[in-house]
Amino acid sequence: MLRVLVNGADGRMGSQVVQAVHEDKELEVVGGISITHVGEDVGEVAGIGSLGIAIRNDLGAALDEIKPDVVVDFTTPKVIFDNAKTCIAHGVPMVVGTTGLTAAQRDELDELAREKDTSIFIAPNFSIGAVLMMKLSEEVAPYLPDVEIIELHHNNKLDAPSGTAIMTANKIAAARAAAGVKPAPDNTHESLEGARGAKVDGISVHSVRLPGYIAHQQVLFGGYGELLTIRHDSMDRKSFMPGVVLAVKKVTSKKGLTFGLENYL
Ligand code: NAP
Repeated sequence: MLRVLVNGADGRMGSQVVQAVHEDKELEVVGGISITHVGEDVGEVAGIGSLGIAIRNDLGAALDEIKPDVVVDFTTPKVIFDNAKTCIAHGVPMVVGTTGLTAAQRDELDELAREKDTSIFIAPNFSIGAVLMMKLSEEVAPYLPDVEIIELHHNNKLDAPSGTAIMTANKIAAARAAAGVKPAPDNTHESLEGARGAKVDGISVHSVRLPGYIAHQQVLFGGYGELLTIRHDSMDRKSFMPGVVLAVKKVTSKKGLTFGLENYL
């Protein structure tokens, strides 16, 4: 049995993780952390009935006392860097779904994890369909290098653009560069700043935030007289759980930092 502590255990994602870990025969929930439900039962808060484990609010102290095998973190962009450093300092492998870490921060975490001989896994998107959307986008990019991304999320999402949109743009840009192809120049003059979206590796990314959405993305490729659109929709947060469970089981297979669920598929 792998003993799992969930950081952000009462959140939209964290409570799904508590349930998914509890339902898996090889995993066990041994702790949960949040800010607002301290002292309440982790299972009750996640809506699956009592697990006899009280929610705590201090990650470092919980790691010292509970000594979990793996920490899963779905918290906030503001605290994820510190959370990751805390887990690494304790030598506890970590699976991170929280978005917002920069490439420079990931490099630093990789170095720290190697020094401590431990593992950290980060995925901007744990859904299998989203990983395939990125893979297909990479494959199309050399043939149709003109591309824009529209990502659509619920209005409580704290960051924009989404980690998935950034990762998709990075992969498309790398695929175009490797193939030696370039998009047509964009000569549009923005009469209103931001009208053409944010640029990630030179690719326009448009972020929509509305109640009703969960997590969605369209990658629009344009050609001469034709369009190809790749679209992915997460209709339910459960769509992320098979990926999270897979990552929990595989995280120790590689030391240092691993980025992207495709590494485990
Ligand atoms: P959420 O519902 O707002 O949950 C956030 C959690 O973080 C809550 O448990 C909250 O505790 C906790 N928290 C807030 N401030 C904290 C602090 N200072 N220290 C420790 N914990 C703190 O958010 P969500 O929708 O679950 O999303 C969480 C993260 O996952 C976001 O970054 C989101 O973009 C990302 N995400 C990733 C994927 C993926 O596939 N990788 C999918 C969906 C979402 P309280 O409730 O007690 O404040």
